[in-house]
Amino acid sequence: MKDKLLPVTSIMNGSIQEVTDTLFSYTNQVVNVCFYISAEQEWVLIDAGMPHSADAIRKAAKKQIGSDHPPQAIILTHGHFDHVGAVEELAQCWNVPVYAHEKELPYLTGERNYPEPDTSVEGGWVAKMSKMFPNEGIDISKQIKQLPEDGSIPVMQGWKWLHTPGHTPGHISLYNDTNQVLIAGDAFVTVKQDSLFKVTMQTQEVHGPPRYLTTDWNAARQSVEKLRDLQPDIAITGHGIPMGGDDLKAGLNQLVTRFDQIAIPDYGEYV
Ligand SMILES: [Zn+2]
Ligand SMILES: [Zn+2]
Repeated sequence: MKDKLLPVTSIMNGSIQEVTDTLFSYTNQVVNVCFYISAEQEWVLIDAGMPHSADAIRKAAKKQIGSDHPPQAIILTHGHFDHVGAVEELAQCWNVPVYAHEKELPYLTGERNYPEPDTSVEGGWVAKMSKMFPNEGIDISKQIKQLPEDGSIPVMQGWKWLHTPGHTPGHISLYNDTNQVLIAGDAFVTVKQDSLFKVTMQTQEVHGPPRYLTTDWNAARQSVEKLRDLQPDIAITGHGIPMGGDDLKAGLNQLVTRFDQIAIPDYGEYV
């Protein structure tokens, strides 16, 4: 499974968007990774893309930073295959620590696998296709570190991590209170991840976490409420185009008030 190049992509593949003057979102096939670049040119990679994307991520980072010096750290929102695809290779070649939430560590140290994707879940063709998605945990025990308990994030001044479980047990989001910028991972996304057409075209709308891999819908609901209460001004999510302003606020409000209809599938293994 791990050696397969997955045949999913989007019109945003390869593009880099400047979200703030220190934060850039780079789309790798259908998933976003972020580059945080400080004024001193120290940088952090947030999430690590699809399988086989190490070269593409290195190239994109070099383009944005202007040199190929390694980051200070890699931060993972969670350990799903589409967020850790290149992490083994990158952490090794850069020789940098990888940070994740304590509850995500078993999936990153070879101890546990994620549950199988729920191909029976309401969610059309992408849910059906999800049987091709690897659910095996990876083993990066040598590089992995637990995030600082005080909520801070290495190098990322002014940023805090928040535990936003549901999609996975140790899922985190990253938030900067000063400019109200949110990196939400898969706690919610800005594209209907069930729809291959919408994924390909990256149609912008606020949705709950990708269904075929979400196992705890109660926790997922609470996490979305927590993020809505922050009233973020801009959000970069794991999938979809970064969103901001009133569209984001209205979308999040609607997702919270209609979570049962919008996010929770009508049928599926984990409902
Ligand atoms: Zn995920
Ligand atoms: Zn994802």
